[in-house]
Amino acid sequence: MLNFTIGPVMSGEKVREIGAEQVPYFRTPEFSAVMLENEALVKRFAGAEENARVCFMTGSGTASMEAAVINVFTEKDRVLVIDGGSFGHRFVELLEIYEIPHTVIKPEFGKGVSGEQLAEYDGKGYTGFLVNLDETSVGVLYDIRLISDFCKRNGIFLVVDSISSFLCDPFNMKELDVQVMITGSQKALACPPGISLIVLSEKAVERVYANKPKTMYLDLKLALVNGERGQTPFTPAVGTLRQINVRLKEIEAAGGVESEIARIGGLAEYFRSRIKELDLPFRLVSASLPNAVTSLSPTNGKSANDIFITLKDEYNIWVCPNGGELKDTVFRVGHIGALEKSDYDTLLNALLDMRTRGLL
Ligand SMILES: *Cc1c(COP(=O)(O)O)cnc(C)c1O
Repeated sequence: MLNFTIGPVMSGEKVREIGAEQVPYFRTPEFSAVMLENEALVKRFAGAEENARVCFMTGSGTASMEAAVINVFTEKDRVLVIDGGSFGHRFVELLEIYEIPHTVIKPEFGKGVSGEQLAEYDGKGYTGFLVNLDETSVGVLYDIRLISDFCKRNGIFLVVDSISSFLCDPFNMKELDVQVMITGSQKALACPPGISLIVLSEKAVERVYANKPKTMYLDLKLALVNGERGQTPFTPAVGTLRQINVRLKEIEAAGGVESEIARIGGLAEYFRSRIKELDLPFRLVSASLPNAVTSLSPTNGKSANDIFITLKDEYNIWVCPNGGELKDTVFRVGHIGALEKSDYDTLLNALLDMRTRGLL
């Protein structure tokens, strides 16, 4: 199988080797050392400040989105939220569930937000901002500089879901004054699903300790206190955390976050340029492309979902289908996980073969 979806993605050999091992008991100094190393490497790769902390949550990315919202915001906040696709919409739903006052910014489909759009909210008393840096459902990368500048000049607490942009697109928490950054194990970390991570700035840590969310499992105070000694309050996905450790060290040894971003960006660039050169009947859906994913729409009336099914059933290749309204018009090709240029050649050859067969 060749997997070009955007999570879970293909894992490298070292990560898979750990997956085959027995899961060890975790209340040990050895496991604590693994966790403290994980925290240090994630902070480095996120460009977090010295006193930042990382919470490792057992739960998919959405668990950390929910934890972030309820641990740093209250009903006294006024939050701006970008709803440019299904992940943005998830933040909106969370704000609704927890009755946190908010205003939704809805960008045009496939587009980012402009400086003028944001300027409308200058000086209006907003206290928080929520954005999915790469809105993975559409494949739109928002302009984080623009958002960061807006938040800086308005003193707004910025929370970024970087689940599909961490290790893919340049990002520096400290420089951008981002207070909370979220990511997950099954995207560019290329590990099995099960762990999501929340990086908290010093200011965010203060908010967490001052806040009293009505939750036990998602209360980050517990994660922070236990994390000081490299532990978690409850049994975590121990195996996945060990895989994350191996993967983070692999990235470090290969030149760090910049090299990983360049590698993923190179694959995205290669695939996009080959699509054009081969004159395949696709249009790019996004006007602001992230490195993690390319969203494509067939220009010849063929169904995107049929293309997904044919690739899966007849070529053993998985691209990422879209759901709902976009089912027949959009599919996505990911650039994260253990993929190489030659894998894209395999995918492109399959698409060329489908064209010859009249299926594309
Ligand atoms: C994958 C992803 C999530 C998390 O989804 P889960 O299925 O809960 O892991 C959230 N936000 C973005 C931008 C994502 O790409």
